[in-house]
Formats: sequence, structure tokens, C-alpha cells
Amino acid sequence: MDLPGLGQFYCVACARYFIDELSLNVHFKSKVHRRRLKELKEPAYTQEDAEAAAGMSTTLTSRSNAAGASGSGTTSTAASSSAPAPTATSMDA
Ligand SMILES: [Zn+2]
Repeated sequence: MDLPGLGQFYCVACARYFIDELSLNVHFKSKVHRRRLKELKEPAYTQEDAEAAAGMSTTLTSRSNAAGASGSGTTSTAASSSAPAPTATSMDA
């Protein structure tokens, strides 16, 4: 498999090889490359992305509901603060 310029001059954005650095630099300034860069920076949202985002928001909502159901942050704080106590007791014993 022979690559132009031995594969040294490669545009990642366009997945294209160029014969030398000059060709690569010319390509960097070309319309094709700039359009490609823009596409990479602003990817079109696919149906999969939308569904993933929806799934994430659903998860976040259920999590916040669970946190509210458990009562308050005070409960979890008390539990965590009481946790070290048994350890200290066992150490004394
Ligand atoms: Zn390019």
C-alpha cells in the first residue's frame, strides 16, 4: 500500500494523504478542508444523539427524584458522620 509522501502528510480532518508538506498546507487553506473542519466542529445531531440525550435527562430526573424521596441531604450527612464512630469503637475494643 503506497501512500503519498509515505503517509507523512496527512489531514486527519479529511482523512486524506498528501504528497508533501506544501500540498498539505495548500489543502489546509482550501475550501474543502475548511468546510470539513466546520462540519467536525458543528456535528449534525443524529437521531441517536437525541435519544441518548433524552435517556440522560431521564436518568438525571429519576436520580433527583430519588434524592428527594430519601428525605434530605441532612440524612445522608448524619449517616456519613456516624460511620466513623463504629470504627473508632472497634479500635478502642
Ligand atoms: Zn483537510
